[in-house]
Amino acid sequence: MTTTTNAAAFAAAQQVIPGGVDSPVRAFGSVGGTPRFMASARGAYLTDVEGAEYVDLVCSWGPMLLGHNDPRVVEAVHAAVDRGLSFGTSVEGETELARLIASRVPVERVRFVSTGTEATMTALRLARGVTGRNLIVKFAGCYHGHSDGLLAAAGSGVATQALPGSAGVTEAAASETIVVDYNDRAALGAVFAEKGERIAAVITEAVPCNMGVVEPAEGYNAFLREITRRHGALLIWDEVLTGFRATATGGWGLSGQPEGWTPDIWCFGKVIGGGMPAAALAGSEEIMNHLAPLGPVYQAGTLSGNPVAMAAGIATLGDADESVYAAVQRASDALREGVVSAFDAAGLDHSIQRAGTLFSVAFGTSERGVHDYADAQGQEVFRYAPFFQSMLEQGVYLPPSVFEAWFVSAAHDDAAIGRVLDALPAAARAAAAA
Ligand code: PMP
Repeated sequence: MTTTTNAAAFAAAQQVIPGGVDSPVRAFGSVGGTPRFMASARGAYLTDVEGAEYVDLVCSWGPMLLGHNDPRVVEAVHAAVDRGLSFGTSVEGETELARLIASRVPVERVRFVSTGTEATMTALRLARGVTGRNLIVKFAGCYHGHSDGLLAAAGSGVATQALPGSAGVTEAAASETIVVDYNDRAALGAVFAEKGERIAAVITEAVPCNMGVVEPAEGYNAFLREITRRHGALLIWDEVLTGFRATATGGWGLSGQPEGWTPDIWCFGKVIGGGMPAAALAGSEEIMNHLAPLGPVYQAGTLSGNPVAMAAGIATLGDADESVYAAVQRASDALREGVVSAFDAAGLDHSIQRAGTLFSVAFGTSERGVHDYADAQGQEVFRYAPFFQSMLEQGVYLPPSVFEAWFVSAAHDDAAIGRVLDALPAAARAAAAA
């Protein structure tokens, strides 16, 4: 089947796929217009089925740290494909990628799965199995994938559609999740004071990036570590988005954690698969050995540790040295500075939240900033659609929601960033006029 326009491709997709998309964040629901169907990608650029080229500021929602179709990754993947797509047995690549992860962050055991959703879902089960407790605490606006217990007040596409949760989640599942405002120490303290003995874990994004970026207040993550430990609960540290992307050591590498403490269960995804489906949970030997086959907490996967995905992850993480993170940071800084000057020139009230190489913009928030989900939802959301459309028309592919972070790669060179900077003033004026 060949389709020649985005509209035709989208119309055809809607006949066989609900909403024409396999992940709601790809729909243009909040920005309007026709979702673009991409045909190919290289470096910092995407090309759609009509042949239009875009500077990509989504980077597959994180994985493409080195840029699209990096030759080293492609070569490794080709070699793996030549050896076989899937064996349903262990492969040495799993050990190699686990070692690469453990060389960056203090974990002793890594269990690979295929998606971030599986990683966090398994992390909850593991925390419950280890502690013998039921309740999970999550923060409003954080997104941890789409397993039942984690959809309450979730960020990402759930925030974009302004849903309180999801139909199809039973009251029983929802009742075991306690939702607390992010950055609110007193609220979390009150929950632990009342229910501390029943709380298995607190799950948090290392830096929330799914309600836009929200920076943890100074010392907030250390506070989460301290209060969970004091009450015998585990701290589940979701680095699916930030892991090996926000910095070389992820969100954990920000705000001084390396000298201090470690969480109990880590979740990774995105970058560790280099664009192929791979994710993981990780932690100490003591905790992770509760998983089957050593322990009683069951978890499995037909394609877990897939050899092609492992090859992409090894090549991506293996090649992501200091110079890569420096290049990504440089591109991110140039972009952020360009946004600030274009918004200022257009008289557009805004704030920018950062997490290492990641950042996001919020409209009408300069006075109080964005510290939690209510702040994020309270912004002038309506300004994003005209901004997004103007950028798209000028050949820049932004996340189709204001509640998402912007991603760049090491392939975003001066030419690519220059194209974005050229597009910003008109888009900023369109947002200001909304
Ligand atoms: N956790 C976080 C922090 C995420 O950002 C995401 C996806 N954006 C997930 C979990 C879920 O990952 P996946 O989409 O691979 O299931």
